[in-house]
Amino acid sequence: MRFTPVTLTAEEEALRSEVRAFLAEELPKGTYRPGLGMSAGHSPEFSRKLAARGWVGMAVPPEYGGHGRSPVDRFIVVEELLAAGAPVGAHWVADRQTAPTLLKFGTEEQRRRFLPPIAAGECYFSIGMSEPDAGSDLAAVRTAATKVEGGWSVSGTKIWTSGAHLNHFFVVLCRTSPLADDRHHGLSQLIVDLTSPGLTVHPIRFLDGTHHFNEVVLEDVFVPDDMVLGEVGMGWQQVTSELSYERSGPDRFLSAWPVLEAYVAEHPGLPAERAVPVGELAARFWTIRQLSLSVARALQRGEAPAVEAAMVKDLGTTFEQEVVAVLQTLVEGDPDPGSPSLFESLLAQSILIAPSYTIRGGTTEVLRSVAARGLGSGR
Ligand SMILES: Cc1cc2nc3c(=O)[nH]c(=O)nc-3n(C[C@H](O)[C@H](O)[C@H](O)COP(=O)(O)OP(=O)(O)OC[C@H]3O[C@@H](n4cnc5c(N)ncnc54)[C@H](O)[C@@H]3O)c2cc1C
Repeated sequence: MRFTPVTLTAEEEALRSEVRAFLAEELPKGTYRPGLGMSAGHSPEFSRKLAARGWVGMAVPPEYGGHGRSPVDRFIVVEELLAAGAPVGAHWVADRQTAPTLLKFGTEEQRRRFLPPIAAGECYFSIGMSEPDAGSDLAAVRTAATKVEGGWSVSGTKIWTSGAHLNHFFVVLCRTSPLADDRHHGLSQLIVDLTSPGLTVHPIRFLDGTHHFNEVVLEDVFVPDDMVLGEVGMGWQQVTSELSYERSGPDRFLSAWPVLEAYVAEHPGLPAERAVPVGELAARFWTIRQLSLSVARALQRGEAPAVEAAMVKDLGTTFEQEVVAVLQTLVEGDPDPGSPSLFESLLAQSILIAPSYTIRGGTTEVLRSVAARGLGSGR
């Protein structure tokens, strides 16, 4: 296991200043209610503006409409966006996860079709992995694709599908051959149009009535052969590789940052008993950020730091929950979601969302198993 300290270059720092200037203009403080992390607002308009600056599809090569930038450049942009609570929800999954998966496993035709609109901030994807009986144990998926003339007929139920009611496509992990002794065989990934006949999106609402994720039911949905992503039967290997893209970035430690920032802004001249816990949180933010940044630098060097990424997600997401818990101790009573205080309303919202931080993208227990197995094998 290796975490090496990272110093940003002058060009990287200049990029940060550019993004800050853009955000100060687009989302001036005081006029905009920050969102919390990757599930912040869904704004195609903002995604397109960001893309016009070259900050969506940063890692996509120019021949596919992207910008060929490094993982650290992308880290810097994403960090600034999340710290500002920018409405990144529309392009988030397509940019973070689908684009690198298409680059690694997609056909040339799929890359040419999907990558340019992704990099333009115009084509949005969801993730179709989890099912009612397959979450951590993803190999238990039962959604089945049966071969038909010209494609596949897909039936099954996906759950917790973030943004399926807003996005254009989702990548479905399904069984393309019957369950065998080795459950990891016979799985494949299909790109499915979320407006396909036979596909129904049912909202699953949070306690406050807001709508983020869904149950997606597929009944004999036709998926043409050219929408098979990667090789038929290689879904397990592909999905495992894909998950590593979503584990260690700033989205795993910055979800509660806007709440802390609002607290500090609304409480100038904090007495020591309140300043100390805030200072401790800031110091820990900085440490976890260094770990996350070192994973980005390792990716830039062409390494595959899966264990380090799992550890950053574990540390980062448990920390995000602690931020919310510590801030709760600094207010009297329960925060009011309708409060005119930005801090109080964001805190109320984050209390509702915080339990999900250590579940989405792989639970803490599962990540610890990944890290333990990796360390046990001498990595
Ligand atoms: C906000 C949010 C958004 C999401 N968005 C998506 C999405 O867009 N697409 C998608 O496909 N999924 C999505 N998910 C689903 C998410 O990936 C799953 O919830 C997660 O993988 C856990 O699966 P599960 O809910 O079935 O829980 P389970 O797997 O049933 O786990 C329940 C508990 O058992 C523990 N556990 C399970 N197995 C083990 C083990 N082997 N060892 C130790 N402990 C274990 C878990 O850690 C957990 O505490 C989202 C979830 C959330 C909260």
